[in-house]
Amino acid sequence: MWMAFRIAPVKRPHGAVPCRLPIPAMPLITKQRQASSRQVVCPHCGHRSEASSRAMSVFCPHCHKRVILEDYKIKGYYGVHDFATCGDIVVERGGYVAAPIKVGNLTVKGKVQGNVIARGAITIEKKGLLTGDIEAPSLLVKQGGALTGFVRIGPLPVAPTA
Ligand SMILES: [Zn+2]
Repeated sequence: MWMAFRIAPVKRPHGAVPCRLPIPAMPLITKQRQASSRQVVCPHCGHRSEASSRAMSVFCPHCHKRVILEDYKIKGYYGVHDFATCGDIVVERGGYVAAPIKVGNLTVKGKVQGNVIARGAITIEKKGLLTGDIEAPSLLVKQGGALTGFVRIGPLPVAPTA
């Protein structure tokens, strides 16, 4: 961001040397953006795009839906009709999610009721309970964890870069 400086005329005693404002260094915007951007796979359509690593959400250039980039930790009840993030979701013990989920990685220590599509891994911890059909490249159900539903394990289709 550029700031405009307005320099008021300064009355100075005759003969004084005018002071010079330091010239601000040119910010390296391009370089910074490249360093802090990350690749995002849209959980809705599978399209890849670039986003700033500081962005909380972006709009997918392909399907124009809002893509959340944040991670979630669910400790209580969370019921929505669409729970989609490029980040990870951890359903803590005592947490209960009633929603269809599209996510990076999902860890279930509490309860999940809903179909899940994960781009990474689904992990059901001891005493975790997932009821719903799931699709993910990787699944781990630890001893004492439970999964009720149809399961498809394998790489998800990813659309080419926009
Ligand atoms: Zn999309």
